Amino acid sequence: MIYDVIVVGTGAGGATVARELSLKGLEVLILEKGEFNQAGAAVEHIKTAELTLDKEEFEEMENYDRYDFLDHQGELMYIEGVGGTTPVSLANACYACTSCYSNSPTAQFKIHDLELFEELIEASRDLNVGPLPQHLTGPATRKIWETTKKLGYFVEPMPKFIDYSKCNNCGLCILGCERGAKWDANKFVEDAIKANATLIPNFKVTKVVHDGNECDGVEGIDRAGESKTYHGKRVILAAGALNTPKILINSGISEGVGQSLFTDLFITVGGFLKDNGLNSEIPMGIKSEFGPYFISPHFSNQLIPLMARKGFKAEPKDVIGLMVKIADEANGTLNQDGTITKPLNSADLKLLTEGYDKCVEILTEIGVDPESIVSTPIRGAHPGGTAAMGKVVDKSLETKINGLYVADASVIPQAPGRPPILTITSLAKRLAKNIIHDALELKN
Ligand SMILES: Cc1cc2nc3c(=O)[nH]c(=O)nc-3n(C[C@H](O)[C@H](O)[C@H](O)COP(=O)(O)OP(=O)(O)OC[C@H]3O[C@@H](n4cnc5c(N)ncnc54)[C@H](O)[C@@H]3O)c2cc1C
Repeated sequence: MIYDVIVVGTGAGGATVARELSLKGLEVLILEKGEFNQAGAAVEHIKTAELTLDKEEFEEMENYDRYDFLDHQGELMYIEGVGGTTPVSLANACYACTSCYSNSPTAQFKIHDLELFEELIEASRDLNVGPLPQHLTGPATRKIWETTKKLGYFVEPMPKFIDYSKCNNCGLCILGCERGAKWDANKFVEDAIKANATLIPNFKVTKVVHDGNECDGVEGIDRAGESKTYHGKRVILAAGALNTPKILINSGISEGVGQSLFTDLFITVGGFLKDNGLNSEIPMGIKSEFGPYFISPHFSNQLIPLMARKGFKAEPKDVIGLMVKIADEANGTLNQDGTITKPLNSADLKLLTEGYDKCVEILTEIGVDPESIVSTPIRGAHPGGTAAMGKVVDKSLETKINGLYVADASVIPQAPGRPPILTITSLAKRLAKNIIHDALELKN
């Protein structure tokens, strides 16, 4: 059997392109390395990769001791399973919102003569994107909003992909929504299967089969550990920015692959505010834009033991926090042995410390005891850039092998510093349109 298209991975990119193509009647095979993750338990499947943040050069910096996020090693989070990393998302949907800056994906792709507006609007419709409504904005979030505004900063509701009519405001988006209020890629996988796509979970694609010019299919390992080959006229790699490069390199495509890794580094800065209850509100309900970074209310469990070390015994409901998320330098590398090198440079550090100082200002104004303020380690949850447009794929998302495409976060050239799901789904939609156009032309 020769499929019209083989899609590798079922995350934001893979599920979208598989859905679009199967709805148009193409024969689609979807190969997924992981299993189905149960809604309500998705967070248990988060994998972490150590980020080797080389910080030595900053140790002489003034106030180095003030920034406790520099005390720890960094961490990068992702999921392998049906739906990819999307089941743990906090439903934030950004692309070109107010005050977004020049690294916004729309601006980045324009440089490559790719205008994505149409697809971004279509994706926003399909994912049900809308700003967090007033009635779901909890008291702690409102307090942060009022205080941040009083301090002279701009604040706006976060656009979310949540069907608010189904949301019970439990604040547990990261677990994977049991009520189906939050969009995740499982919805698109279901649509694709209903439209006759074949999904094989527990199948790890290892390489693409090609003759140096045309692509023929993929090889991989199935559930029983057997090696197997599937044939297709086109192959779309959507295995995520940490896995797509491995498949490309294994397939003899290595130029520019695995380099230029960004992660949208973030920290959560928090302190003690008795009974504030942020932990049971929709996370990141509002945001303040500061060009290459933004600040948003965020509860993190990691803050509790850090506060305890400073003598503040907090229950989750006593912790109030703010996330600082930056557009970091695309200077990381996915090494041959699977480790990740991600130097923290002075531009990244400037943004993190600037954001940290603003968080302390806001938290103190709210009434948090400054002595209780701590920060999580630096983390990343948006890996991308490892098969970047202009280096590894062209503006049609095609590699140098005809019929071999990439449709995931790997193709985004620079860190947007903003949640990327809407951008990835838009890119996948564009690729689907191109393929459908070509397939129809071939028929006629
Ligand atoms: C805690 C957390 C919260 C987040 N919140 C948000 C948010 O609010 N908004 C937002 O926009 N983004 C958010 N993100 C980021 C977002 O989830 C990812 O950027 C996005 O899902 C990446 O999409 P992708 O298609 O590149 O890869 P993924 O969604 O990771 O999908 C990759 C898929 O490929 C599969 N795969 C891997 N290797 C193979 C192989 N060899 N063979 C077959 N299949 C393979 C994987 O199992 C997976 O299904 C969050 C991330 C985390 C960790």
